[in-house]
Amino acid sequence: MELVVEDAVFVTMAADGGPSGPDGALLVRDGRIAAVGPAEAVRAAASPGARVVRLDGATVVPGLIDAHCHVADVGYLAASGDCSQPSAPDIPAVQARLREAADRTPPGSWVTGSGYVEYKLREGRHPTRADLDRAVPDRPAVLYHTSLHACVLNTAALAEAGFADGQPDPPGGAFGRDRDGRLDGVVFERPMFALFERNLRADLARMDAAARIRLVQVAGQRLAAFGLTAACEADMRRDSLAAFADADAAGLLGLRIYGLVVHDQVDWLLASGLRGRRSARLAAEAVKIWADGGMSSRTAAIHGSYPVPPYGSGILYFERDELTEMVGDFDARGFQVAIHAQGDRAIATVLDAYAAVLGGEAGGAGNRLRHRIEHGGAMYPPLAARAAALGIVVVSQPGFLSTLGDGFAEAFGDRSGQLYSFGSWQRAGITVAGSSDAPVITADPRLGLRDAMLRRTGDGRVLGPAERLTARDALALYTTRAAFAARREDEIGSLAPGKRADFAVLDANPLDADPEHIPGIRVLATVLGGRPVHDSGGVFAGG
Ligand SMILES: [Zn+2]
Repeated sequence: MELVVEDAVFVTMAADGGPSGPDGALLVRDGRIAAVGPAEAVRAAASPGARVVRLDGATVVPGLIDAHCHVADVGYLAASGDCSQPSAPDIPAVQARLREAADRTPPGSWVTGSGYVEYKLREGRHPTRADLDRAVPDRPAVLYHTSLHACVLNTAALAEAGFADGQPDPPGGAFGRDRDGRLDGVVFERPMFALFERNLRADLARMDAAARIRLVQVAGQRLAAFGLTAACEADMRRDSLAAFADADAAGLLGLRIYGLVVHDQVDWLLASGLRGRRSARLAAEAVKIWADGGMSSRTAAIHGSYPVPPYGSGILYFERDELTEMVGDFDARGFQVAIHAQGDRAIATVLDAYAAVLGGEAGGAGNRLRHRIEHGGAMYPPLAARAAALGIVVVSQPGFLSTLGDGFAEAFGDRSGQLYSFGSWQRAGITVAGSSDAPVITADPRLGLRDAMLRRTGDGRVLGPAERLTARDALALYTTRAAFAARREDEIGSLAPGKRADFAVLDANPLDADPEHIPGIRVLATVLGGRPVHDSGGVFAGG
């Protein structure tokens, strides 16, 4: 079965620029791109029975790639009660969503809601345990903040988590308290991460194969609606890999998944025989390590200390020698290594480890497995120069700028313009890939495209105007460079003959649009391996 797509603007992102006129066409054969170029030539290459789809001047871009996304978490939260604003405008609406969620939550699992932002609620505050108790009085319930840096527990959940009135704040986190000092149910930071992790793992273990497949499928649908056709799963574990593998075997994996397997699960991975490529859609051949904490929680390991609570210098999880040994071990076993590093102290430690393992071959040629730094927030110019010399790939999150940028500005003051310095990194010669880190923020890459170009925070300040990218460089983050970061540039990331037929159909060309308007560009359809996986525009309907 052949498919000709025509009457569209093709943004190929191919090295030679490729065709981009309004009268282009693209031929799909056996799930791959057979030709792309002037309509006449493409039609001539197609067989007589090929299906022809006309796009009425829409724009076709390569399938977008999220190089760091917690895909399983996105699917997990999608099944929870939708407590986001404006969908749930006030606390009574949140309570109604939690009651609905309770009706479909199996015994043993916590009733779960997600997506709220306290200042967007009509009441302008976090809901409390009392608010949750009124909705779900008799079993544990949790409501996750959209940032996943806070949540609210009802009384039964507080008890099950072992949190009691009078208890001091736990390490790396804090409890909200009422005027009498009693816990009000709000939990911040580290204990919140632990709860989320515990609930996710417990619920995955409780699910049957069909429910796990459904979780993966829903995540795929969410991402496909944004034009995404591939993602690096940044937190792949035994249970989530099984879920992806089941979905893939059932033909229900709606995007390509490249797994970064959590470092303490690598022995299991090797013993299980699941290492490597399982199919064109699923692979597990990289290892994930966390070197430090996060930026918005001020736990990223920095030189000096934060001027805002909790005032420390952040948390470094491994000393240099220990990290070097881990990297050396995974490198020797042929794994690509991806290390979460946000603060400058953590990044320096990671670069020391990479340098010790890779040696100093010119132009970063020693980095054959394409070891990566995830995030790289405070990778200031001297660190960027070192990363460039080592050939380290940096996978970062432009969308943090509008969603979390004001918090960065508070924590980093004068230096905040040097955070996520995409322009400088690119000029230093680093390959930078784009990603969302969803569900920390939305997985929508249109937000990241805009933020890479504007670098504007929620309050409207511009962090580091010199670090802004052009539209083409911003789009490259989510196409060619993300493909490179996942070691898949021979297969995806651009529209060229021989590559997989992964593309998105947009109602406007992001390279011509006012960056302000990019988040409003509609994704009419998303195509994976020549088949539509999303079609809100009815582009492929009928025929
Ligand atoms: Zn992450």
